[in-house]
Amino acid sequence: MSSYILSIDQGTTSSRAIVFDEKLQIVGISQKEIENFFPKPGWVEMSAETIYDSVVEVVKDVLIKTRIMPIEIKAIGITNQRETTIVWDRKTGKPVYNALVWQSRQSNDLCEKVIRAGHSSYIKQKTGLTVDPYFSASKIRWILDHIEEGQLRALNGELIFGTVDSWLVYRLSNGRTHITDVSNASRTMLMDIDTLQWDKKLLDIWNIPASMLPEIKASSEIYDHTDFLGVEIPIASVIGDQQSALFGQMCFEEGQCKNTYGTGCFLLFNTGKKRVDSKNGLVSTIAWKIGDEVYYALEGSVFVAGSAIQWLRDGLKLIETAPESEDKASLVPDSGGVYVVPAFTGLGAPYWDQHARGAIFGLTRGTTREHLIRATLESLAYQTYDVIEALENDTGISVKGLQVDGGACRNNLLMQFQSDILHAEIIRPVNFETTALGACMLAGLATGAFSSLSDLRLMYNVDRRFEPMISIAHQSRLVNGWKKAVRATMEY
Ligand code: ADP
Repeated sequence: MSSYILSIDQGTTSSRAIVFDEKLQIVGISQKEIENFFPKPGWVEMSAETIYDSVVEVVKDVLIKTRIMPIEIKAIGITNQRETTIVWDRKTGKPVYNALVWQSRQSNDLCEKVIRAGHSSYIKQKTGLTVDPYFSASKIRWILDHIEEGQLRALNGELIFGTVDSWLVYRLSNGRTHITDVSNASRTMLMDIDTLQWDKKLLDIWNIPASMLPEIKASSEIYDHTDFLGVEIPIASVIGDQQSALFGQMCFEEGQCKNTYGTGCFLLFNTGKKRVDSKNGLVSTIAWKIGDEVYYALEGSVFVAGSAIQWLRDGLKLIETAPESEDKASLVPDSGGVYVVPAFTGLGAPYWDQHARGAIFGLTRGTTREHLIRATLESLAYQTYDVIEALENDTGISVKGLQVDGGACRNNLLMQFQSDILHAEIIRPVNFETTALGACMLAGLATGAFSSLSDLRLMYNVDRRFEPMISIAHQSRLVNGWKKAVRATMEY
C-alpha cells in the first residue's frame, strides 16, 4: 500500500484537491469552479455551503481519478483564500449569511468609522495591518449588523465565526473542532501578532464577542480527524494560500521571497522570527508556526496582474488566449515606449490609491497592438518592481533572487523582463502548484512523512532561471518612465 498526502486548496474561483506522493510529486488534481455573487457594486459573496460541498466533491473525484484508496491518504492539509468571512450557528452548524469574500467592500463604512474614531495606529501596531474592508473584522461586524438579532445571538454565544479554513475543519470534523491557524488569524485584524492571541481591545473596537472566535493553533499539527471518506484521516495542516505558497517555494529562511502571478500578484518576503513593520505600504503578517517557532513575512499585493491579460483577451480582444500574449509580444523588440498602468480597481501596494484608474502612456503613430500587449505584460513586472523597492527600503536588504509561481509565470518573456527590471535572478520551480504544495509539506511534517525542512529542500526542482540581460542604465531609464506613468495616473 502506498502513502499519499491530500491538499485541499480552497480559492475564490475554485476548489482544488491535489494528491502528492512522498516525493512531492503530483499524482492527481481535481478542480471545481465556484460561483461568486455580486449583490451590489463592490460586494462579493459566496455560498459557504457550496464551498464545503465543492471541497468534498473534488476530494472524492481526485480519489476516483487516481484510484487511490482513502486508507492510503495519510494526512490532509488545507490552504485557503484568506480573510473571507463566515458566521454560522453553533448548534445547527448552518451559516447565517453568505461568505463575505476578501474582495468585498460592503463593510467600507464600518472601517471608515473605526478610522475616524482614531483606532488606526493601535490596530496597525497590534495586527500589522492597515484598516480596510479587505480583512475579516469589519466583515464579521457587518454580518452581525445585517441578520436578525445578530448582536444578541452573538452575545448569547449562539454564533461562531471562522475564515474558510475554520469552516472546513469544523465541517470535516462533524462540528467537533473550531480552530484556525496563526497565518489565517493574522488576517482577521483581531489577533495580536506578537502574542498570537485574540486581543481584547481589538474585539472591543470591532464590537465582536470573544466567544465567536476559533482557537488559534500552529500551521502544522493534527487538529482532528475526518471520516467523510469512510476512514479516519488526520487533518494536519492549515495555512493561508499566500503563506502556503511561500512555504511551498521552500522560502524557509529570512530574506527569501516569492511572487505569485495570478489574477493579482502577491509578493511575500520571509522576515524570519521577527516582525518587520513597513513604512512603505506593505503589511506585516505571520508566515507560519511550526512547533513553537513562528515566522513572519512582509507582504505586498498588486490588485491587477493576470487580470490585465484577461482584459487584453476579453475586453480589447487583442489575443485569444493568455499564452498568446507571449507570442504576440515577442514580435516586437520592446514596448516602443508605451506604458500601460492597469489601475482598473485602484492601485494596491505600495501606492494604496483606491481612486486611481488605468491609463496608457507614450502612444505614437507607430504603436501597434503588439506594443500594447507587450506593455501590458511589462506592467506586471513593473508593479512587482514597485513592491520589491518598498521591501528593500523597509528591510535594508537588496533582493537578489525571486521565486515565482502562479499562472502567468509560465510566460517566459514576462519572466525575462522581470529579471531585467529587478536586476535579479528569477527562479521558476518545476512544480508551480506551490500553494497546494505548502499545505502538503506542513501536513507531512505533522504526521512524520517528512522529517525536516532540509529533507524537503532536497526535493525543490528548478525548471528555469532567468538572469538580467540589460544594463543598469537601460533598466533605470525604463523604470523612470514607469514611475512617471504611475504618478500621472494617480494625479489624473
Ligand atoms: P488565480 O489563482 O488567481 O485564479 P492563476 O494562478 O490560475 O490565477 O493564473 C491565472 C492568471 O494568469 C489569469 O489571469 C491569466 O490571464 C494569467 N495567465 C495565464 N497564463 C498566462 C500566460 N502564459 N501569460 C500571461 N498571463 C497568463
